[in-house]
Amino acid sequence: MRVRADRDVCIGSGLCALRLPEMFDQSDDDGTVVLLRRDPDPDQEAAVLDVVEACPSGALQLDR
Ligand code: SF4
Repeated sequence: MRVRADRDVCIGSGLCALRLPEMFDQSDDDGTVVLLRRDPDPDQEAAVLDVVEACPSGALQLDR
């Protein structure tokens, strides 16, 4: 599994960084998502999937 984030689509809600701070952060400039890691550990995959589905803007995508 690999995570992609489109910062042009992100609305900076912060949900991803709140739920999975080991994977996601927010830009100090505009609050948009910053990916800290692209490849989650196997035991993080379910949590990452939940965050991707919950993202209100659709900025997060998964490649499997
Ligand atoms: S949850 Fe989605 S909209 Fe919110 S900061 Fe993360 S990528 Fe951006």
